[in-house]
Amino acid sequence: MCEKDATSTEHVPPKCLFPEMKDTKGIDFRKELITVPSCDIHNKEKSDDDEFLMLSLSGLIKNNPVGNFHQLTKANRALKRKNKDFIEKQILRNHKLQKVKTTDGKYRIISIGNPNVERLSNCLEHIAYGIYYEEFKKRFDGELKMILEFIEYTDENMQTMKQFIKKRFEVENELNKEIKGKNPLVFYYQFHEPDNFGLIGMRMIFYGTAEAYFSFKPKEAKQPFDMEMKLMESGITTIMNVDGKEFIFNK
Ligand SMILES: [Zn+2]
Repeated sequence: MCEKDATSTEHVPPKCLFPEMKDTKGIDFRKELITVPSCDIHNKEKSDDDEFLMLSLSGLIKNNPVGNFHQLTKANRALKRKNKDFIEKQILRNHKLQKVKTTDGKYRIISIGNPNVERLSNCLEHIAYGIYYEEFKKRFDGELKMILEFIEYTDENMQTMKQFIKKRFEVENELNKEIKGKNPLVFYYQFHEPDNFGLIGMRMIFYGTAEAYFSFKPKEAKQPFDMEMKLMESGITTIMNVDGKEFIFNK
């Protein structure tokens, strides 16, 4: 994250995202967790953020059974220790409970509301820096962009961008199926080769379904990051094509 001397190590992603043996009755979801060097400032007082991330991600409705399990155990224990308005204040604004019918015909009570995207993005950016270090054994120096697949953006262009990037990653994944992470039901990630412009793509997947896409632009990359963004922001209708599928911005 910064140029200060490393004085400690931290887990990326934070350890609390991974179920503990005391809950799983012996199944180990904490195999070879990733740690990276950290300075004091970036490691200190991060535990609130770690817990925030755990509560935000473990509760997503699309999660695999490990995510659901983690929500029912560790996340629920953490929530019991909080004030009544904690979810409203910290996790989901305009929080409401709603009954929905799931694909298997059963009813579930779910929470709906507006997530704290800024804080989520900060937490995930922190992890992305750590994962980059793990992969390349050096600190990332450059610009980082991210889109969260599991967020419904109110901006139509952002939604289209999300679909566009998702499709690009799908195409890339056909070429490179290698995934990394020793506990893939909790967390895994994939890097892609730098593209023509020197941008490096990476996706992280939590609990099997919650995807976050990143684009690393190292300092030495030759092109401006934002050819696509610039076109979009100019307000001109822009069509981008991935593998035969068209994505229309500024419709
Ligand atoms: Zn630091």
